[in-house]
Amino acid sequence: MTKPTPEYLLTEIAAEVADQLIPADVEEASKGQRGKQSQNLPFSLFVKTVEQAPIAISITDKKANILYINDAFTSVTGYKASEILGMNESKLSDKSTPRQVYYDLWHTISRKKVWHGQLVNRKKQGQRYLADLTIAPMLNEKGDISHFIGMHRDVTQTHNAEQLVTNQKQLIESVINASPVAMVVLDEKKKVVLDNQMYKMLISELDKNEPALFFLDALEPDMGDLWNDSDRKRGFANYEVRVEGVGRRGTRWFSCSGNWFTESDSCADNFFVKQSRDYLLLSINDISLQRRQQEHMQIQALRTVLAEEEHIRSIRETLLGAMHQICQPLNQINAAIQIMAQRNEVSNKPLQDLLGQVQLMGAETLKTLQNCVPEIPETAVVPVNVNQLLHEVMLLYSNKFLANGIIVDWLPNPVLPSILGSANKLRMSFKQLIDNCVNAMNRAGSHERMIKIITAVDNDWVNVSIADTGPGIPQNQRNKVFEPFFTTHGMGEVQAGMGLVMVKEIVTQHNGMIGIDPNYQKGCCVNLSFPVCPKNITSVNGYE
Ligand code: FAD
Repeated sequence: MTKPTPEYLLTEIAAEVADQLIPADVEEASKGQRGKQSQNLPFSLFVKTVEQAPIAISITDKKANILYINDAFTSVTGYKASEILGMNESKLSDKSTPRQVYYDLWHTISRKKVWHGQLVNRKKQGQRYLADLTIAPMLNEKGDISHFIGMHRDVTQTHNAEQLVTNQKQLIESVINASPVAMVVLDEKKKVVLDNQMYKMLISELDKNEPALFFLDALEPDMGDLWNDSDRKRGFANYEVRVEGVGRRGTRWFSCSGNWFTESDSCADNFFVKQSRDYLLLSINDISLQRRQQEHMQIQALRTVLAEEEHIRSIRETLLGAMHQICQPLNQINAAIQIMAQRNEVSNKPLQDLLGQVQLMGAETLKTLQNCVPEIPETAVVPVNVNQLLHEVMLLYSNKFLANGIIVDWLPNPVLPSILGSANKLRMSFKQLIDNCVNAMNRAGSHERMIKIITAVDNDWVNVSIADTGPGIPQNQRNKVFEPFFTTHGMGEVQAGMGLVMVKEIVTQHNGMIGIDPNYQKGCCVNLSFPVCPKNITSVNGYE
């Protein structure tokens, strides 16, 4: 028997295959259509189609022995028809493809299904390549498999490129995940599109569903809406957010930085007309450890500063008290001189002159005393966090609280916007108010000894309330306590009645408000309010 030529074989097979070019498992659905289509086309066109198709095509018998290959097959594998016809497709196998792949392949095609997958092939010259292979069974008129058609491409380069991208992506992901800084990428709808391990940890630690939104809300009072502020799209660095009372860790500090980047939209609709989207990479760095160390050192320095200020304040109070005392007899002398002047009696003239001299000397003494009153030093007016200041004062007082058996109920707002102010002066005011609480409870010998400190935000105001469980201030005295030298207890005690005057003066300098809460029953509660710092302000030279 003479061996059939490849051309003869193709014609023979093509006659059979042409009618079956559509894979067996979709045969039924398209039977009607296919019959009509092939009738209208010349048979030789099907042969040419297979021959010239730009994909490696091979036609085999049921055992994968190759009966036909097209030109593209030669281009891809390096085998000419004369070298491979009659051989099994396994000639192409590199043997590094797992057995399971071949098992699946045969399991599928034996059941008259199309198999598609990737396997490693070897070219005639020995180079390995990755083949993206589709095998479809061809059925005869009885519905039995008569041949297989295999179509494959060399996808090594595409695979390498994909692998490179995947490797780079994995590398970037591992670097990002290994970062000790929480990172999150948000799209224009503030939806998280990417995050790292540290960010995921923040979700549980802060007990917030989406910490990114929490931090953006916290930054908004200082920075405005980042998405609608084109200036902000240049990015920002190291904005500090203080978060109160989170879990067992207490107060935590985070430094937030944002970087914007634009990415082309990968959607098919925008393949020709390029569209881009803005994304925000938000980095959240937990700086609590550094801040706690800083705070520890700061507290030592603060102790000295506050002691000095306290000293100045007591000198001021003493001198102002003395001036207040001198003013009373001077006013009376002045009144006596006026009366004598009106009566114009000659006998009173020497006394009138004497009183005049006393008045003059008194005025000079007052002037001298006035010049001796030391000024409370002005400090820089900058955005300050009231939670931070109160926290520092409480740290300074921790020993005093312990010594006096006082429990402090600290209920800060988790995040507070900054207010514009002098940190020292505000600290002094809070210290004075807490002093008042301790003294009042000690004086009254209160059984329950608690100081409750609350901070809150209400629109554009930061509210602070400092309450104690002492005797309270009678209703008729609540306004008077802000007057100079008024005290609710007897004269001759240590306090001169200037503390609340100083607090009110400082609050007023900060454009704030102060008052005694009329509804508080358990003791005394002082409410303070400060306007939130206007956006984008970092410091000012003085008060408005
Ligand atoms: P083989 O001994 O050939 O077979 C391995 C396993 O495959 C067997 O254990 C068995 O489970 C199954 N198997 C083999 N032959 C049959 C059969 N006739 N019926 C049922 N199960 C069977 N392989 C490639 O490596 N590269 C290719 O490009 C490629 N193209 C192919 C194109 C077509 C159209 C067909 C039908 C097969 C193709 N194959 C290809 C598969 C190839 O025939 C071999 O099965 C494979 O190369 C493994 O060869 P082997 O010698 O290692 O193992």
